[in-house]
Amino acid sequence: MTIEGGVPLSRLTTIGTGGPARAFARPRSLGELGESLRHAAEHELEVVIVGLGSNVLAADEGVDALVLRLEGDLAQVEIRGELLVAGGGATNAVCLHRARDAGLGGFEFACAIPGTAGGGVKMNAGAYGRDWSDVLVRALVATESGEEWLGAAELGLAYRHSGLRPGQVIAQVEYRLEPRPSDEVKSQVAELVSRRKATQPTNKRTFGSVFKNPAGEVGAGRMLELCGLKGHRIGGAAISPMHANFIENADGATTADCIALMVEARRRAHEQFGVVLEREVVFVGGMELPGIHAAT
Ligand SMILES: Cc1cc2nc3c(=O)[nH]c(=O)nc-3n(C[C@H](O)[C@H](O)[C@H](O)COP(=O)(O)OP(=O)(O)OC[C@H]3O[C@@H](n4cnc5c(N)ncnc54)[C@H](O)[C@@H]3O)c2cc1C
Repeated sequence: MTIEGGVPLSRLTTIGTGGPARAFARPRSLGELGESLRHAAEHELEVVIVGLGSNVLAADEGVDALVLRLEGDLAQVEIRGELLVAGGGATNAVCLHRARDAGLGGFEFACAIPGTAGGGVKMNAGAYGRDWSDVLVRALVATESGEEWLGAAELGLAYRHSGLRPGQVIAQVEYRLEPRPSDEVKSQVAELVSRRKATQPTNKRTFGSVFKNPAGEVGAGRMLELCGLKGHRIGGAAISPMHANFIENADGATTADCIALMVEARRRAHEQFGVVLEREVVFVGGMELPGIHAAT
């Protein structure tokens, strides 16, 4: 397995921003994954896993870590009865196709989530009232010292959150699905996708929801819309004119542009609604948002 240097995160993230990774590798088997994790430990390097990079914002200056993307065996999908077994790097799209072809339903909610099995577990991703915790049976978690299977409770899944620690890698996931005719799966997916296209900027470069929905009735998107932020632009990044909880790479955006927009959005939401919005997007590369008053 080759370990490369200088691969830009802008190539590995859906928003298309981010500087070079100090080291980058694509492990294709459990053995290679273990090798990568031990290499990182020996060189005292932090490990960052990137799935499709669809919920990641990486520092413009680069990331001082070993960045891993799971491929080969670690991205395979297999059906075993009513179980769908996916490598941590398998995309949701492939899992959904395989489930549909096997006459299995229950994963339709993931049709508009452009990520991988591992990213889904880490974020406990979800949509339309369902999330990973509803379908996950267990996940194989790899660390530098070996692998172990953990169930949903042990993974600490909660709203867009898991208890996974840095250095814990989801190598494989088992989902329990249920029999459902393929044409029903297909038509529900078509309906969910068209609903999504009508309300979210699915054809733009984004990293999905910027903030988690706060407690209460007003969601983050509606709140930011009421703050007049739709279309607000800083540098090459813009708050989506379609849905205010998305930031689009409108024209050569940098991560700094995206963060400046997040700071402004949080400031306004706090000023108008007294709410401190919590980010959903994962920061990679030692960044953090300033305290809410620092930006005012
Ligand atoms: C257009 C669009 C729509 C979206 N809609 C939704 C939605 O409806 N619901 C929703 O929940 N999310 C949504 N997202 C966000 C994102 O797609 C999900 O969070 C997704 O699960 C991230 O998966 P990923 O593989 O791309 O992970 P990445 O974005 O690459 O990484 C996210 C986090 O997971 C970690 N990670 C990734 N793979 C592994 C692994 N194998 N082991 C351990 N950690 C890992 C990363 O280190 C990082 O901390 C959307 C994003 C976009 C761009």
